[in-house]
Amino acid sequence: MAVGANENISKIPPSYLFRDIGNKVLEFTKNNPDKAANLIRLGIGDATLPLASCIVEAGKALLDEMSTEEGFAGYVDEAGISDVRQAVSETIYNGKVAADHIFISTGSKEDSGSIGDVFSTDTPVYVTDPVYPVYVNTNIMYGRSNIRLMECNAENNFMPAIPESTESSLIWLCNPNNPTGQTMTTAELTAWIDYANKTGSIILYDAAYKSYIRDPELTTNIFDIDGAQDCVIEFQSFSKSHSFTGVRVAWVAFGDGVKIINSKGEESKVRDIWNGRQAYRTNGVSRPLQAMALKALSEEGMKSSREQTDYYLENAKIIREGFTKLGMDYIGGDNSPYIWVKTPKGMSSWEWFDYLLENCAVVCTPGAGFGGCGEGYFRLSAFGKKENVIEAMNRISGLSL
Ligand code: PLP
Repeated sequence: MAVGANENISKIPPSYLFRDIGNKVLEFTKNNPDKAANLIRLGIGDATLPLASCIVEAGKALLDEMSTEEGFAGYVDEAGISDVRQAVSETIYNGKVAADHIFISTGSKEDSGSIGDVFSTDTPVYVTDPVYPVYVNTNIMYGRSNIRLMECNAENNFMPAIPESTESSLIWLCNPNNPTGQTMTTAELTAWIDYANKTGSIILYDAAYKSYIRDPELTTNIFDIDGAQDCVIEFQSFSKSHSFTGVRVAWVAFGDGVKIINSKGEESKVRDIWNGRQAYRTNGVSRPLQAMALKALSEEGMKSSREQTDYYLENAKIIREGFTKLGMDYIGGDNSPYIWVKTPKGMSSWEWFDYLLENCAVVCTPGAGFGGCGEGYFRLSAFGKKENVIEAMNRISGLSL
């Protein structure tokens, strides 16, 4: 006798991507200790620059305060978290999303994985291929089987086509995109918003890399676009903007008019349903993290974010220039820390991964790991030290491709 399993969880396709990469790198380092000493990892999308000292000081000061009787406080109260919500509202959205429509969390991964709680399981879900795998696999865990892939390839410039269906659906858009580094123009986003409003769909907008947008023609606040309030739920994070991958603060922002309907035909604001859900799922983000997030949103914190993202974008530029010189096809890297590159000589993603590791001691991410349309591509990440990026591109340039 045993408790029954949630069989949806066993339907998740086993993801071997980062495990396989890890194993291959391990084997390489064992067999080639001299080359391994100079291994350069440009595969993973993890921040590498240290936290800004002003942010660290803010966290330390809060912890010090909590070590005193007067300063101690336990469960996070609404007042503390309100400050962060207010700061996000003002600094990120220019007040276009009200503070009480912003929910602070410890990561966009968990937010984007959990949002499925509030939607019916028979709702169609559109995701791109290639894709950040969280959108797909968490929906499988919920038992959603109506997951529709929007192919992104060289023919459509890695831009998903708007579906012809008139059904109300959930649509995942990641902009700037992980893994392709592609960005959508304001006109393209407007077309999606119009489609969503016409069909009663909701856009789940992952803007984890928004702080990398430099092109003034691109939208940095989707809520500036007419109609976004009625169909957009945005996910954002300090992970890649302020080196918070090891600290963990993020948020979800709800358009005021985003609604769902129950089987009795009653409509509710998704914001209200999420508010109720959060009350039972979490006691919030710790006080030191709140203090750090508040500092991250201050003028000083935003300046440090700009400097850090500028640094990674400079790396991305070095990578792009290297591939341009080699005559290799790529996109991304101009408003994003990712560069999506076509493998040379028709190699598969994994053949190229092995070739690059063996010949250059450089680690990339095989595109096939992000979906079928990723086959024949690889992703390089601009996170890392500039000198390593220069060295990696020098080694790649020396290959006879
Ligand atoms: N969304 C995208 C597209 C990502 O690439 C990542 C992390 O790599 C996340 C969300 C996760 O962000 P967080 O660190 O806030 O969980």
